[in-house]
Amino acid sequence: MKHPKEEKTFVMVKPDGVRKGLIGEVIKRFEQHDLKIVALEMFQPDFGQIDNHYPKKEEWITRLGEKTKTTYEKYGYDLLEDFGTDDTSKIGPEVRKWLVDYMLSAPLVKMIVQGVHAVDVIRKLAGDTLPYRAAVGTIRGDFSIDSPALANKEKRAVANIIHCSETPEEAEHEIKHWFGDAKIYNYKRFGVDE
Ligand code: GDP
Repeated sequence: MKHPKEEKTFVMVKPDGVRKGLIGEVIKRFEQHDLKIVALEMFQPDFGQIDNHYPKKEEWITRLGEKTKTTYEKYGYDLLEDFGTDDTSKIGPEVRKWLVDYMLSAPLVKMIVQGVHAVDVIRKLAGDTLPYRAAVGTIRGDFSIDSPALANKEKRAVANIIHCSETPEEAEHEIKHWFGDAKIYNYKRFGVDE
């Protein structure tokens, strides 16, 4: 068993976060909550990196399509008119493509963040996936009001400032994918580690 202070998670500032000048704000919020940045880099991803970041499993892709269908039904939009189909297994790949295009549209900032319950605490600080629904005080709730109703109409991914791992297993996988053998730093935070 790892020490609770050694839990690590993976975070990426997405193109809208970078272009809104929120890199510092995002890092500040993590550090304010006694979390420690142990690796950090700005980079321009290539297609393969982003394509491999998002799951390719049919189940995950169809779920994206189902989410889109739910939004269309909720707001009374016509799925057939915009997608030419109401089959979620065909809509899913289209939404996944929007996600890949979005993630390639500006440089990203990737980081590994460490601390007690790092995965859950960062998800809490990030807020709901859909910014219009995210609580005030969270990163997504404070800096975006984007919604799938608007994003789907504009044929693009929901812009929600950051990506962060959902589970410790996902964090481990994403850290390996994005950092490989790169150095993870170890230092003592005042008031946290000593
Ligand atoms: P996350 O783990 O909170 O990022 O959320 P998901 O894994 O469920 O979704 C991945 C990404 O897809 C989100 O961060 C959004 O950028 C985008 N997204 C999620 N749901 C929708 C949707 O209904 N429509 C569109 N256009 N994009 C979505």
